[in-house]
Amino acid sequence: MTARILVVDDILPNVKLLEAKLSNEYFDVITAHDGYQALELIHRDMPDLVLLDVMMPGIDGFEVCRQIKADATVAHIPVIMVTALGDVADRVQGLEAGADDFLTKPVDDMALFARVRSLLRLKIMMDELRLRERTSNTLGVIEPARTLAEPLQDGARILLVEDLDYDAERIGGILSQRHAPVIERDAQVALGLARNGDFDLVVISLGLQGFDPLRLCSQLRTEMETRQVPILILVDDGDRRRLAKGLDLGVNDYVMRPIDANELLARTRTQLRRKRYQDRLRDNYHRSMTLAVTDSLTGLYNRHYMTSHLETLMGRAHHDGRALTLLMMDIDFFKSINDTQGHAAGDEVLREIAARLNRNVRGIDLAARFGGEEFVVILPEMDLPHAAAIAERLRRHVAEQPFPLSAGASVEVTCSIGVAQSRLGDDPVDLIRRADEALYRAKGEGRNRVVVQPSDLIGLSGSVPAETVETKLPIA
Ligand code: GH3
Ligand code: MG
Ligand code: MG
Repeated sequence: MTARILVVDDILPNVKLLEAKLSNEYFDVITAHDGYQALELIHRDMPDLVLLDVMMPGIDGFEVCRQIKADATVAHIPVIMVTALGDVADRVQGLEAGADDFLTKPVDDMALFARVRSLLRLKIMMDELRLRERTSNTLGVIEPARTLAEPLQDGARILLVEDLDYDAERIGGILSQRHAPVIERDAQVALGLARNGDFDLVVISLGLQGFDPLRLCSQLRTEMETRQVPILILVDDGDRRRLAKGLDLGVNDYVMRPIDANELLARTRTQLRRKRYQDRLRDNYHRSMTLAVTDSLTGLYNRHYMTSHLETLMGRAHHDGRALTLLMMDIDFFKSINDTQGHAAGDEVLREIAARLNRNVRGIDLAARFGGEEFVVILPEMDLPHAAAIAERLRRHVAEQPFPLSAGASVEVTCSIGVAQSRLGDDPVDLIRRADEALYRAKGEGRNRVVVQPSDLIGLSGSVPAETVETKLPIA
């Protein structure tokens, strides 16, 4: 992957060294020699990751990091702080400034590349979600997810997998200062819990006996139900090989033993924030998908979805030699309902029509709003006489019960329905057109009735009762 990495350090040889290492691994490298220049480049070049020196004249790395994370346009860019200090207090300060990780100088190559790759993978996924969200925002269908910088609620659900009693208690104790940890000593049981438990974070000790904890990480990452949950591992100091392996498997973060309480909480917080942000982006995506196929007034499918799905359904019906019919319904004199009751009341009528449609069709039928006061129902595996009977039942359900209005009064509504059956060689447009022709006849013959497309009756096996062609059908 050719990701662009910004290296920030006030000492030129440090910059050169990191630049050489990263270029060797085919990363694109840009460099800055102080905090101001770094902030400028971050906005101008939008790097995929920032390696940020802590001690710099002017504004230091902590402050640069804080500014990046407070700015919604760049807060998603991962930041690794690079420091000569090995002090835990500094690490915690960095994490609280929003840093995604810490590396100490001289930078160990394996740690550097493992971390860079894992953060880049995460960013690619987030970028994809952000991109989809931008499209939804442009379409005006969804409110943007709030940012990573927003404060976090306490009480997250955390699964801690640790089989040493002493550590389980101590680490559980630290986590329960702010959250609700569930402690599990058995890796297999933990996997089951994670599948069903809707956890916000899983913390796994690499010291587990009797089950390879990295296998647990790998299972959590591959399974559908747990793929999205962040994983934080607890690593023995110096166990770089397994740490690198863990990061490769998709582990999100780690804490080195001996475990510092503040560092653990700070890293937990970062993961929880990221998870929350990701969940919101994902929810927004699903909501925008729903919005893209539904009509916002009635909640029925929209015309676009209905026509494309009709094509699929017709293809299948023709292939299997099964019937498929389509009803086209139009409210009678709807304009006068609007004119006498007001537009808002008109909307209520449309919503009530949708509700009555939904109550009167089968699970496999598809009801859609075709246009203003026109609706379509697709009836798979239904032949013309039966579809005509359904249409007649619908007509009666509209005409026989007045529509209550929130203003208090109610209004009488009738509708006309045209029915057509799919024929071999038809495409959706043909079928819709024939149903529309039948509807037009229903209007012409006085409204409040069902008319079957006469040409579709030709070639039907068996006789079709005359009354199915027109209104006032006996109910099947
Ligand atoms: P006909 O019996 O021939 O179908 O007469 P009609 O009045 O129902 O038909 P016409 O096509 O003349 O009028 C349809 C009206 O539906 C006009 C339009 O303002 C109204 N309409 C379309 N969409 C909406 C909507 O979303 N809400 C409301 N309240 N009215 C709508
Ligand atoms: Mg109408
Ligand atoms: Mg109309």
